[in-house]
Amino acid sequence: MNPTPLTIHELHEQLKNHKTTSRELTRRVLDRIRSVEPKIHAYRTVTEESAMAQAEAADQWLQSPRPVHPLTGIPIALKDNLCTKGIRTTCSSKILENFIPPYDATVVQRLKESGAVIIGKTNMDEFAMGSSTENSAFGLTANPWDVNRIPGGSSGGSAAAVAADACIAALGSDTGGSIRQPAAMCGVVGLKPTYGRVSRYGLVAFASSLDQIGSITKDVTDCALMMDAIAGHDSYDSTSADIPTPDYARALNRNLNGLRIGIPREYFIDGTDPEVLHAVREAIHAMEKLGAKTREVRLTHTEYAVATYYILATAEAGSNLARYDGVKYGYRAKPTKDLLEMYMKTRQTGFGPEVKRRIMLGTYALSSGYYDAYYRKAQCVRTLIKGDFDEAFKQVDVIVTPTAPTAAFKIGEKTQDPLQMYLSDIFTISVNIAGIPALSMPCGFTKTGLPIGLQIMGRPFAEEAVLQAAYAYEQATEWHKRKPNI
Ligand code: GLN
Repeated sequence: MNPTPLTIHELHEQLKNHKTTSRELTRRVLDRIRSVEPKIHAYRTVTEESAMAQAEAADQWLQSPRPVHPLTGIPIALKDNLCTKGIRTTCSSKILENFIPPYDATVVQRLKESGAVIIGKTNMDEFAMGSSTENSAFGLTANPWDVNRIPGGSSGGSAAAVAADACIAALGSDTGGSIRQPAAMCGVVGLKPTYGRVSRYGLVAFASSLDQIGSITKDVTDCALMMDAIAGHDSYDSTSADIPTPDYARALNRNLNGLRIGIPREYFIDGTDPEVLHAVREAIHAMEKLGAKTREVRLTHTEYAVATYYILATAEAGSNLARYDGVKYGYRAKPTKDLLEMYMKTRQTGFGPEVKRRIMLGTYALSSGYYDAYYRKAQCVRTLIKGDFDEAFKQVDVIVTPTAPTAAFKIGEKTQDPLQMYLSDIFTISVNIAGIPALSMPCGFTKTGLPIGLQIMGRPFAEEAVLQAAYAYEQATEWHKRKPNI
């Protein structure tokens, strides 16, 4: 039987009971990558050799009396902005094309400690700036459900690889929707944890007050298992929270009786595809049938979220990307006549157009005459947006919305209009601004067969409640079982 469509928990049973080996599984995943990559191009780097060595080590572990982890022997892909010791980490940017980190990100180290097999690095929008993976300096990734469409972004490679069974699970990063939006477009599960829940050490920074690492998986149980491996305090990240992490997978089995679901009016608006609205309303109805109680909540500052985000995120990006000057990392333009020209040419030729646009916007927002009008004001609005969620979560346990206003759009459809592209994150961005956790999961398909995503938001550090609600809904539906024909 072909193991690549299976989930972590299903494969764990097989590995534990010696029905298969990690070497066999890893080989099959590598075969699958070879067969689908020409169509989807989800990977930047496939680490065949080290993956086979890790699979071998996992098999020894599985044979030994030492207790194994649910991830032991499971092939996992990583977004190419997570530092991997000895393995190229490019952020899909020319400026880091040949950058080989000397250390592993904390999440990578934790995956390795649980015996996972790192199968490769996935394509993304350059420096995670984008919603379609079209901003990669190294080519497009296609959506496995329709190769003429984008997979979402910026973690588009991770989501496409999971959807196409070209890995068993993946990690992504989410600054304004980059895990949830591609998960929605590719029909898989993506969780952005609370800011501070997962260590950002070794994640190449885009906007440090918004960035979080999370998983993209085939179902909710796998999402909980990934959280069990990666969540928790890390002294290398001063923003990681020093509070205990629950056993997420064990907490899953809870019914929806009495769960209070908030429906924010501001997320059910004109401009959203009617098929998306219909699927989300049906999902809410299904949750009510399972015992949940719904009520309307107001998130009144939602209309300012995109503007606020594009001031804060660009300001932080402008600062974070100052380090790519041709001196310390990766690419250096040459020949140049002096230092200033070297800096300028390196950045002119090393960064793509969207990254340059963000640096210019951020520099403008922080410049002395405009600081109060833009950056300071955006920080004030951030507090108001956070306040909306605090109020809403006094009345409800989770909030349910669409993940994105449309299903996957066509390649090239929005590349000429950055504002249209920015608006595809209209439902995901507030979550990062407020720092709360949110998950996207499949809740239906369009008539043309494209997946639709449901978003479930929770209180800070209440990933458990989000996962429980998602799991109960998933158990009552079949959406997660559909596979693209690729
Ligand atoms: N699409 C948003 C942006 O372009 C969010 C990206 C992200 O979450 N990394 O900034």
